[in-house]
Amino acid sequence: MNKFEQLLSEPKIILLDGAMGTMLMSRGLEAGQAPERMNLDRPDVVREIHRAYIEAGSSIILTNTFGANRFRLKRHGLDDRVREINYAAAKLACEVAAEYPNVVVAGSVGPTGELMAPFGKLNFDDAVQAFAEQVAGLSSGGVDVIWIETMADLQEVKAAVQGARSVTRLPISVTMTFESKGRTMMGVTPEQLVQLAQELELNAVGANCGKGPQELEAVVERMHKAGCQVPMIAKANAGIPKLVEGKVIYDGSPEIMAEHALTVRQFGARLIGACCGSSPEHIQEMRRALFFDLET
Ligand SMILES: [Zn+2]
Repeated sequence: MNKFEQLLSEPKIILLDGAMGTMLMSRGLEAGQAPERMNLDRPDVVREIHRAYIEAGSSIILTNTFGANRFRLKRHGLDDRVREINYAAAKLACEVAAEYPNVVVAGSVGPTGELMAPFGKLNFDDAVQAFAEQVAGLSSGGVDVIWIETMADLQEVKAAVQGARSVTRLPISVTMTFESKGRTMMGVTPEQLVQLAQELELNAVGANCGKGPQELEAVVERMHKAGCQVPMIAKANAGIPKLVEGKVIYDGSPEIMAEHALTVRQFGARLIGACCGSSPEHIQEMRRALFFDLET
């Protein structure tokens, strides 16, 4: 049993981490820059963010590799460095995790950013290859689980899982992003995701990002009612992004996210964290609500 499977086998709630992208921006990442470059140029900053989440209570941290596939990296002229970037990101997350007992490192795999055929130009085999390339870097860097996230298209999920399995036997989790009225941008429903999780024998499944905690709660509830047999993940954005004086602000306070953590737990979510706009303060407050509510 690997470290992630071991963690899942214990009958308890698992606290995930929060945002990486918005944290990097608050530490000097400029708009238009590839966040994944920070793994090479500023590993100290990435390490510091991982450490802050673990100190706040996260048992699973996600590598800074959300956009580290060749399609997204190409926009920054980095598409020939996919393997190097993923390896470096995995390595530095694992180094930080190793300073603590029982912290699991999840290799973040986001969408290609391309539309798949028949809607777009990306064909299935090219997608599989791109995901395989990224996952090879992550697994050689030592991650414990492949964490496919923010997906909107079932075909792309299948391509990512197939690509991952062509290069590693690590466990795999998938979360999709439900935009509004419980559908992803490509129209996928929570019930369809539950079915896919069973078909693909995923280790964990759920929702991340999207339109704030309330929308995500409804999605988790629907997955639960659809008879989801796989451990469920909830990683909502800290509220909804709003433009205030030219800056993007998320309106979900740590207290709101703590309340949200209790709600998704009630709907059966076992892996609970936060997405865009969240910080270690949000995770710390969620931890207090989930694990110490009886003490206060
Ligand atoms: Zn997000």
